Amino acid sequence: MADAPGAGRDRVPLSAINHFAYCPRRCYLIHAEREFEENIHTLGGQLEHARADGAGHAVATGVRTEYAMPVWSDRLGLSGRCDAVEFHPDGSIYPVEYKHGPRKRWLNDDLQVAAQALCLEEMLGLTVAVGAIYHQASRRRREVPITAELRREVEVAAGAIHALLAMSALPPPTDQVQRCRECSLHDVCAPELVRATERLRAAGRTLFEPEEDGG
Ligand code: SF4
Repeated sequence: MADAPGAGRDRVPLSAINHFAYCPRRCYLIHAEREFEENIHTLGGQLEHARADGAGHAVATGVRTEYAMPVWSDRLGLSGRCDAVEFHPDGSIYPVEYKHGPRKRWLNDDLQVAAQALCLEEMLGLTVAVGAIYHQASRRRREVPITAELRREVEVAAGAIHALLAMSALPPPTDQVQRCRECSLHDVCAPELVRATERLRAAGRTLFEPEEDGG
């Protein structure tokens, strides 16, 4: 049987899944080089998470909710906390991730919830069919079905993150330049400088390449 994506390696934080899906370079800077510049986006997120981070539980209409619940997966090499995990009377379990922005669909948020679901499944020996994202700004909740495709994407991302962190080499900036505008690590990363340097190198290679002998 093939090795599981994170088997035998240190666990990385669940948030790495979200960071990696946004930009592998961002993931490396945060988790290998420990850079974390605060901007309005990360600060807002941290404040909302801080509210959800108060561990404890509540029971309402038969649903028991555990806040800031530690979760992990040895198979995927992941660990972290779920903002909230709901235990329903019918036996179903929902991880709920709190987000500070308005209700939007981001694949990387879905991946993070799916990663939490896979951790809960491994810990509890149950199937988690659905998770949810709660958007604080709009006070709306969006359900995230934990599909076979999302599960596979989490497994691939977990494997890629472990490989990336083991490489000890900063990956290039993302091609999705619009993401850099809102990235909290923009000043540390300097993507424009890196891209300009790479363009210069490419131009240099073209200029100084020996011409092909046409015969
Ligand atoms: S600034 Fe752009 S390339 Fe750099 S870490 Fe952020 S998203 Fe990635």
